[in-house]
Amino acid sequence: MGKEERLRYHGPAGMARYIIPDAPESDKRFIPGVKTIQEAAREVEVISEADVIVVGGGPGGFAAAVAAARTGARTVLLERYGHLGGMSTGGLVNIIPHLSDTDGNRYIGGILEELITRLDNQGAAFRPLEADWGSTDPSVLKFYQDSSFQHFFVRKNKNGETCIVYSAIWDPEIAKNEMNRMVMEAGVKLYLHSWVTDVIMDGNTVKGIIFESKTGRRAVLGKVVIDSTGDGDLIPRSNTAYEDNIDFNLRIKHLCFGFWIGGVEFRAYDRFVSSRPDDAIALKNELHDNGLYVSFFRGMLKNQEHVAWLHPHFITNCQTDVEEMTRMDVSGRDRAVKTWELLRDKAPGFEKSYIMLTCPQIGTTGGLRLIGEASLREENMLRKEPFEDTIAIFPNNDLGEKGYTYPVVYVPFGALVPKETEGLLVACRAFSSDDEANSLFNLVPHCFCFGQAAGTAAALAVQKGCPVRDLPYLQLKEALLSQDVILP
Ligand SMILES: Cc1cc2nc3c(=O)[nH]c(=O)nc-3n(C[C@H](O)[C@H](O)[C@H](O)COP(=O)(O)OP(=O)(O)OC[C@H]3O[C@@H](n4cnc5c(N)ncnc54)[C@H](O)[C@@H]3O)c2cc1C
Repeated sequence: MGKEERLRYHGPAGMARYIIPDAPESDKRFIPGVKTIQEAAREVEVISEADVIVVGGGPGGFAAAVAAARTGARTVLLERYGHLGGMSTGGLVNIIPHLSDTDGNRYIGGILEELITRLDNQGAAFRPLEADWGSTDPSVLKFYQDSSFQHFFVRKNKNGETCIVYSAIWDPEIAKNEMNRMVMEAGVKLYLHSWVTDVIMDGNTVKGIIFESKTGRRAVLGKVVIDSTGDGDLIPRSNTAYEDNIDFNLRIKHLCFGFWIGGVEFRAYDRFVSSRPDDAIALKNELHDNGLYVSFFRGMLKNQEHVAWLHPHFITNCQTDVEEMTRMDVSGRDRAVKTWELLRDKAPGFEKSYIMLTCPQIGTTGGLRLIGEASLREENMLRKEPFEDTIAIFPNNDLGEKGYTYPVVYVPFGALVPKETEGLLVACRAFSSDDEANSLFNLVPHCFCFGQAAGTAAALAVQKGCPVRDLPYLQLKEALLSQDVILP
C-alpha cells in the first residue's frame, strides 16, 4: 500500500476510510454502441389517490407519514424495501444521538421520543436515565466512558466538565415492527416493495408519483408529495434546483457496509489485549495492511453483550452511482468475511463468533441537497435568535467552542420548501443546507424532526386548501406543539 493510499485509508478526519476498487478493465466489453433509446408512451393505472404522498420510509418519511395521517390527511407512504426505518434499521445505524444538550435539556420530542419510549417499554432500546442527562458525576459517567459508544454519550460542557448527553440506541428489528404498528395505527396506506421512479408534473407543480413493483408500473395522485428518499430522488425528477458538492473531509462523503459479528467473548478478547499487547497490535496491523476493518463497537442493547458492530466507511464521489454502489457492496462484503475470518483465527474471544447480520441496505451518508426557500448554512446556523418559522431545535454538541456560544441550532421550515416547485416538500437528509451543516445535522433525530414538520404542514395545507408554502406558520407551530415537538 503506497503512502497516499495509506493516508486516504485512514482519512484526514481521523476515521478509517476504505477505497472502493476501480471498475475492472473487462467492463469495457460492455460499453454500449448507442447512447440512448426512445421509450414508448404508455397508459399507467392510478392505484391510489391521497392528500399527502410520502416517498421513502426512513426516519424522515416514517415521521412525515405518521404526522400527516394523525393530522387528518389521507396519507400514502411508499418504501422500496420490505421494512421501514431506512438507515436507522436497515442500514444498521441505530444510534440516535444528541437528543439533549450538555446541560441535560432535551430538545427533540414528538414522534421520535414516542418511538424510543415505545421501544424502551419493550426492552428494545437503551438510553441513560433522565436524571443522568447532563450529569457530571464520575460514578455515573464511568459506565459511558468505558463503553465503546462513548462518543455518543459523553461530551464536555461549557465549564469544561465531562458530562452525559441524552442519546439512544434501538434494536433495528423491533424498531421495524414498531414503525409498522405506528404507521398502521395512524391509518397510513402503506406500499412496501415499491420503488418510486418518477413524478407526475403539471407545469412546475408535482401532482403525484409513478412507482414500480412486482405488480407493475403504477401511479399515485396527491395534493402534496414529500420526498423522504434520503437521496432526494424526486428533486431532479421534478426539475427542482439542488446542490451536491461535498468536502472530501466530511462524514457525508461515504458509502458504508455495516455488519454485526455475534458470539464474541469480549472478556477473553480484553484479556488478550491487556496480557499480549504486542500480539494485539500485530493483529490490528495485519487487518490494516490487508485492507480489512480495524475497529468495532460493542453492542449496548439488552442481550447484545456478545455482539461487535462494524461500520466501515468507503470514500465515494457519488453515492447513487449504481456501479460504484455495486463495487462497494461486493468489496465491503468480501472484506467483512475476511475480517471475521482473521479475527476468528487469531483473536481470543472470537473463536466461536459468526457474522450474524450484514446491513440489509447500503449505508448512504449524503448526496444532493435541495436549494430551498431557506437554507441551513454556516452563516445562519450560528445565531442566538430562532427563525420566524422555526420547526426544530437541535443541540449543537459537535461544534466545540462555537457550540458553547451557540448551544442550539434552529431550523427554518423554509429549508424543506423548494424555491419554485409547488406541491413538493423535502423531509430527509436532502434538506436545504451546505455540506458542513448537512454533515452535522442530517442524523436520525434531525430527519425525524424534518418529517414531523413536513407531514403536519402538508396535512394542514390540504385542509386549508392553500399551497403548502403559504401555510401560516402559527398554525403549524400550534399543531407541532400539540404533538410534543419542542419549539422556541
Ligand atoms: C454508516 C453510517 C453511520 C451513521 N451514523 C449515524 C449515527 O450514529 N446516528 C445518527 O443519528 N445518524 C447516523 N447516520 C445518518 C443517518 O442514518 C441518516 O442521516 C438518516 O437515516 C437519514 O434519514 P432519511 O430519512 O433522510 O434517509 P434514509 O435513512 O436513507 O431513508 C430513506 C428511505 O427512503 C427509501 N427510498 C429511497 N429511495 C426510494 C425510492 N426511490 N422509492 C421508494 N423508497 C425509497 C429508502 O429505502 C429508505 O428507507 C449514519 C449514516 C451512515 C450511513
